This record gives sequence, C-alpha cells and structure tokens, in this order.
Amino acid sequence: MSYDNETLEAVFAKTTGTCRYCGKQLSFSNYGAQGRRGAWVVDHANPVSRGGTDYLRNLWPACITCNLEKGDRPAQSYLRSTESRPAATGDCLVATAAFGTPWAPEIESLRWFRDHVLVGRRVGMAAVSLYYATSPEPARWITNHSGLAVIIRAPLRVISRVVRKMIGDSDATFPNKFIAPGTLRGR
Ligand SMILES: [Zn+2]
Repeated sequence: MSYDNETLEAVFAKTTGTCRYCGKQLSFSNYGAQGRRGAWVVDHANPVSRGGTDYLRNLWPACITCNLEKGDRPAQSYLRSTESRPAATGDCLVATAAFGTPWAPEIESLRWFRDHVLVGRRVGMAAVSLYYATSPEPARWITNHSGLAVIIRAPLRVISRVVRKMIGDSDATFPNKFIAPGTLRGR
C-alpha cells in the first residue's frame, strides 16, 4: 500500500511524529527507509488481514521494529504483550538517566546491544532481567544526583564504543543499517 503525502502527514501528526508503540522519535522524511534514523511505516492498528481499513483512524505511525514485531496482531493485543516485557519500555534506564535523554547516540548503541546481542542468549537474558528488576532505583538516584550522571557516563561511553566497534561502525547514527531486512526482532 502506498500513501500520498497528505495521508502520510496526517498519520505522522497523530502522534506528533513518534512511534505509537515504543514512543521512539521518527523522521518524516525517512518514511519506509529501513535502516535510516527514525525510519517509519504506516501501521494498521487493526491489520488488513483482519479486515482493518485504510481510513485514517486505523492508521498509525510506527517504527519498523515495532511494526514487524506487531505482525498480524491488532494494536491492543500487541500493546498488552509489550506491557509485561521489561525490554519493551525501550529505554536503558540507567543510561537514560546518565545522559539525560533516551536518544543520545551512546544509548542507541547500548539499546542495540541489548536487543540484538544480550536478548536471546541465556546469560544475557538473565542480565537484562536483572537489570530491569533493579535499575529504576539507581536511575532515580542518578537523576537526582547530577554529579553521579557524569561519573556513570564514562563507562557507558566505553561500552557503547566497544559495541559499535563490534558491529563495525563508527557512525553514531548506526545501528540499523547493517541489519538485513527481516532480522529486526524477527522472533
Ligand atoms: Zn516503535
């Protein structure tokens, strides 16, 4: 399905340009441009395969990861499935607190590391669960003690640099462009 510019603008405006499901900031000009920063697609809240329409009320902006992961499910059931899953909050809490924004390039690569390397390996999975079980408290702490944020940023930067080297990229806008289509959270 292709949409005219007017429709795309209207869909994009529904969330003021963020993914309906994970809240990630999208880039209007990267519509359909998988691998680009802020790439997005038009998501049918009620999938076409289930009788969903192309009316504006059924169309939402979504990042490609969420759109693929949602698959054939209606929006509500996808949203419910992500609620119980800690990684779906999308943010590395400690890192976010340390950098003051969830969109620092360092955090993008940490997030990538979590989603593509840690998750899916048993030890990594345990570490991720432990992290999410314990991190809201430290994150609040860091937010309230700005001096701490500065200290914590250094090791996080090192990790993120290692991650980027691992995946062979020096460009801060990475990490999606090396992921082959179809491998995005294809579980
Ligand atoms: Zn998303």
